[in-house]
Amino acid sequence: MTNAIQVFRQHVSQKGCHRSSKREKILGIFLKSRTHISAQELHGLVSQDYPEIGYTTVYRTLKLIADCGLAEEVDFNDGVKRYERKWKRDYHAHCICTQCGRDFEIFDEGIRDMSVNLAKRKDFTIRKLRYELFGVCRQCAAVLAGGEAS
Ligand SMILES: [Zn+2]
Ligand SMILES: [Zn+2]
Repeated sequence: MTNAIQVFRQHVSQKGCHRSSKREKILGIFLKSRTHISAQELHGLVSQDYPEIGYTTVYRTLKLIADCGLAEEVDFNDGVKRYERKWKRDYHAHCICTQCGRDFEIFDEGIRDMSVNLAKRKDFTIRKLRYELFGVCRQCAAVLAGGEAS
């Protein structure tokens, strides 16, 4: 049975870095965090428990976590680089509200199947699949329509 920490440790030792308890604390917090998180936000969470861990360590660790496939970068077109946990999570699409910035996840195998079929037409192999929809959420739509958010 492999778990996330083993995947991470193997990656770190392959890169020739020594094992660090700081990095593993950061990983633990990342794995428990909300779905989409920036290095800044993660550092905020980490420093609640471990004020001695600096932003640079968090930032570099997040990159290591992504490099070994435990996390993936998500881009919501607002200039903020966020990551989400990829380990043991199914493929999903993102809906991003351009008014309030909130994001929603939609889990549907159909998105992946459709993408694979489209790529096949060009003998294209998908390595990374991102599906992001930009628009207006229900609450913001109600506000824009002049009504009250429910
Ligand atoms: Zn909204
Ligand atoms: Zn997501």
